[in-house]
Amino acid sequence: MKLFENYSLKNFNTFHIDVKAEKFIEIESSAELLEFVKNNDMNSKNILVLGGGSNILFTKDFDGTILHLTFKDHQEISENDESVILEADAGMNWDDLVKYSVEKNLGGIENLAMIPGTVGAAPVQNIGAYGQELKDSLFEVEYLDLSDQKFKTLSNEQCKFGYRDSIFKNALKKKFIITKVLFQLKKNPELILNYGNVLSELKKEGISNPTIKDVSNIVRKIRTEKLPDPNQIGNAGSFFKNPFIDEATFQKIKNEFPDVPSFKQDGKIKIPAAWLIEKSGLKGFRKENVGTYPKQPLVIVNYGNATGKEIFDFAMLIRQTVKNKFNIELEPEVNII
Ligand SMILES: Cc1cc2nc3c(=O)[nH]c(=O)nc-3n(C[C@H](O)[C@H](O)[C@H](O)COP(=O)(O)OP(=O)(O)OC[C@H]3O[C@@H](n4cnc5c(N)ncnc54)[C@H](O)[C@@H]3O)c2cc1C
Repeated sequence: MKLFENYSLKNFNTFHIDVKAEKFIEIESSAELLEFVKNNDMNSKNILVLGGGSNILFTKDFDGTILHLTFKDHQEISENDESVILEADAGMNWDDLVKYSVEKNLGGIENLAMIPGTVGAAPVQNIGAYGQELKDSLFEVEYLDLSDQKFKTLSNEQCKFGYRDSIFKNALKKKFIITKVLFQLKKNPELILNYGNVLSELKKEGISNPTIKDVSNIVRKIRTEKLPDPNQIGNAGSFFKNPFIDEATFQKIKNEFPDVPSFKQDGKIKIPAAWLIEKSGLKGFRKENVGTYPKQPLVIVNYGNATGKEIFDFAMLIRQTVKNKFNIELEPEVNII
């Protein structure tokens, strides 16, 4: 366990906001985590588990303790004819796990290439991209239950995954720390090619019978062209979730914009938040050091030394403008602290 006081979080959040944490503790194993939890009153303290900080906006200094898990092993623990169970520690870099599974020709998370952050954070919002979600290959989650200080496991079903949602954002909120995630990866997966321009990009490369690696590489290529690299321009990916709306609201929008994109899910209609932002005239909109990324307006970027408060105010301006135009309230996907 390593303790740092009055510690800058600039390199621990992808917006690169220069805030400080009162205490920052690196936890090197599950046993150390248990020891910490047993020796500290987790209810009375302001405690935050921080992975890569790629889904967080700090609006002020963090007046409390940050726990940063650094254990990052992974191993295959069993297999049968169809699949392999792969276990990974919470502190492992997510993309390293994707690279490992792709190299082993195991399918299930190849479309989730290049999502920043850690394995431990991935189930919290059920990360997803290019037609694949974590829930499609998650087997089990191991977590430390803060109420009774016991390690427990949840099956895929028990995690109650939804679109950017899980039990960890609801019933278990503030009561858990994820220590390990187990995946069931397929030896002969059905590849997901029909999302975005995956198929057309594969065609451009002359690939008609793609492998797991081909798909993952194409996703990497598309993401590199479309999304800002957080090492160059601070951002946290999509700032808002894609909203679900009812039929009546959808028809109203369709009357004005017959080409509005939409997806049906669970009897509701999902509209891309990026489209709403663009049609509100905010694509590439910039206010001093903060703006929407011109190639993907759902991404809010820190062009310089913006503060978290400036980014937050900018996001609320986007939200209000979309509300005024469409009467739809966008919900942040990013955790605002
Ligand atoms: C350029 C860019 C592109 C992105 N693209 C995508 C995308 O395509 N799809 C997508 O879904 N997301 C995307 N994201 C968002 C982000 O990468 C994911 O949400 C990622 O899973 C966050 O991981 P992290 O380790 O950085 O989490 P953090 O930002 O550190 O934490 C996120 C939340 O999880 C909690 N948490 C973290 N670790 C643990 C743990 N071990 N136990 C309990 N709680 C924990 C934190 O307390 C916090 O509430 C993108 C972000 C960026 C910057």
